[in-house]
Amino acid sequence: MTPDLGPLLVVDDDEANRDMLARRLMRSGFRVATAASGAEALAHIEANVTELVLLDGEMPGMNGLQVLQEIRKTRSSSVLPVVMVTARNESEDIVEALNLGADDYITKPIDFAVALARIRTQLSRKEAEGRLRESEERYALAAMGANDGLWDWDLASGKIYLSPRWKAIVGAEPEAIGEDPKEWFDRIHPDDLDRVRQHLAAHLKGRSPHFECEHRIRHESGAFRWVLVRGLAIRDAKGGAIRIAGSQADLTSTKILDPLTGLPNHRLLHDRMERALSDQKVQEDKRCAVLLFDLDGLKLINDSLGHHAGDELIQAVAGRLDASLRATDTIVRADAADEATSLRSITEHTLARLGGDEFIILLPDAQEVADVTCVAERLQKLMSQPFDVAGHQIFATASIGIAMSRPGRTNPKELLRDADTAMNRAKISGTGRYEIFDETMRKEVQQRLLLETDLRHAVTREEFVPYFQPIVEMTTGRLAGFEALLRWRHPTRGVVLPGEFVPVVEENGLIVPIGRSCFEQVCRQMREWLDTYACPEHFWVSVNFSRQQFLEDGLLPWLLGCLERSNLLPSHIVVEITESTAVQDLDRTIHVLGQLREAGVKALMDDFGTGYSSLVCLHQLPIGGLKLDRTLLLATEKHPALLETVVGLAVSLGLTVTAEGIETESQCERVAAVGCDFAQGYIFERPVEADKAAEIITANERWLQDLVTPVTFAGRSAQQIALQPAS
Ligand code: C2E
Ligand code: MG
Ligand code: MG
Repeated sequence: MTPDLGPLLVVDDDEANRDMLARRLMRSGFRVATAASGAEALAHIEANVTELVLLDGEMPGMNGLQVLQEIRKTRSSSVLPVVMVTARNESEDIVEALNLGADDYITKPIDFAVALARIRTQLSRKEAEGRLRESEERYALAAMGANDGLWDWDLASGKIYLSPRWKAIVGAEPEAIGEDPKEWFDRIHPDDLDRVRQHLAAHLKGRSPHFECEHRIRHESGAFRWVLVRGLAIRDAKGGAIRIAGSQADLTSTKILDPLTGLPNHRLLHDRMERALSDQKVQEDKRCAVLLFDLDGLKLINDSLGHHAGDELIQAVAGRLDASLRATDTIVRADAADEATSLRSITEHTLARLGGDEFIILLPDAQEVADVTCVAERLQKLMSQPFDVAGHQIFATASIGIAMSRPGRTNPKELLRDADTAMNRAKISGTGRYEIFDETMRKEVQQRLLLETDLRHAVTREEFVPYFQPIVEMTTGRLAGFEALLRWRHPTRGVVLPGEFVPVVEENGLIVPIGRSCFEQVCRQMREWLDTYACPEHFWVSVNFSRQQFLEDGLLPWLLGCLERSNLLPSHIVVEITESTAVQDLDRTIHVLGQLREAGVKALMDDFGTGYSSLVCLHQLPIGGLKLDRTLLLATEKHPALLETVVGLAVSLGLTVTAEGIETESQCERVAAVGCDFAQGYIFERPVEADKAAEIITANERWLQDLVTPVTFAGRSAQQIALQPAS
């Protein structure tokens, strides 16, 4: 359940970082205070109730570690959790911070979903510890009369006393269990045994103040139950443990219930899946099915109406699903805060979509595919009625992925993974769909995994290189600059185009190192050209930046560092971002663009006209120009006035216009006629290797001589539109 969204303190000297984090936290329902320095943070903590601190590691004056040390002098981690915010490469600092009493850390650039999950975990832990402290005094008394079993182990004689209640928890009669500690250890789940031994040894050797461990223990029925064991050693004068006694509480019911919905959690599902699959081994014709049911757009509800509304919706959906299924069917929720991590580790490739908006339904007896699709359709129909949530009527849809067991496939993890693959497919095809897993999907997933591995190797083998496509100035018909376009020189496949790998590396984050390497190569290349050839005046190279690259912390200093190392001016480089990058986080985009502009680096809006038509927000963005996408050019073939309007708008905003993807003379004429400043396309040249680009520079060709229609311009001179730093 969402913990109390209490006042958090965000400490960061960088105003932009601080404000962004604070704003996003507030949007997630937290109350947030901010501090710009260590001293301010400490004063704030003294004067105000604070639930948790997000502490930047690097600050002038008192740094994060010093602030942490000060906090820990008066407040323990159970009173005030501290989460450090550090750069990814500062692992030594992270270790030191953890040693000094930090509770967790998040790295920059901040992945907000991860940050949120970590903050919530810390808050829940704190709350739980608070409750525990309160109950500790009552505990001794309660244990006697309550449900806990007791144990007392004489280490000298090696005999252990296990109380009747202890034995009842494991389903044994009082006389059925003797005094040998093996009675206990032999019953512990093999996967948990080492952990229990380690905790016990740590306490006996005096390394931990008490012994406490959760583990599974075998019940007489053969099933495992979850128990919480606690103990305290009695020591001799030298501190050696001579005896240890404690309690054992049965946690099974709390372990198998999802606190938000009251549904069983995935552990029970796992048990039942194992059972269903092993039944199938015995009865060959028996099949079972798993449906992964994912609420579409829960995030939108959380963001717009708050997490409480999201929780309410989940509860309501759970209620409907539960009521509609047969008693023998199992429905569970993959809860983000609880077991989802382990469930998600089953389906590693979707770890990012971690969230509590998924339900898993096991149909233990599903003979035909049609039976299962029938259930899927019924479940989707259930969603067609609106839900009353937080005083609003909400319509929700769900995507469903279905996987059916097959003879010989008896692994629950595989079945879940397949259902997840199918669910992703359902989501891609729209909202409110279902998909059944099939072999083609498995092959696609495998191919994707192979591609990812290949890409990782490609990064280390430096197989990514920029190609260069000339950009022609319309007034003169001459080379104005190049656009750098990434190519993957694959050892066996030859040159691979970005369309195939950029979306993949954008998803797995590799775009950041690849993009950096590409940019550095471009800078070095540019230096070489400037040193060797008579380059055009105002010569520049345009470089594409994906969203992660563009919004990465520290982009500007890194970029300026690259320019400096190659002895380039900011005007030698132009940054291209796409409309979708801009609209996804408008505030931050405006901020970064502003920084670039201040530093004299021009930015262009690429692929203009393909997406969200951000005409509305164009005037807010400190960009220097637009690149009209080829599709816009084609789409306006029959409506020339449209193209004119777009160019007119850009001109009125003081932006330069580049037309992309020019393939024919008539296209060339059109873009010239409406007053585009630059053009780029196969009609001039395809993207080429650096050597060939150098030839283009030396050739100093004049491209537009054969244009039938004289070029008309929207009244701007070449000097005005040349790519001087945007102002
Ligand atoms: P983009 O930035 O819009 O690049 C223009 C694309 O149009 C290039 O495709 C280019 O080869 C292609 N093109 C140029 N002239 C013509 C033409 O006359 N006709 C047609 N049909 N196409 C033309 P490419 O090189 O395959 O790149 C595709 C996209 O991949 C780029 O679109 C850009 O979004 C992305 N990309 C390329 N290099 C990088 C990079 O270094 N970093 C990042 N983040 N993305 C990159
Ligand atoms: Mg581009
Ligand atoms: Mg483009």
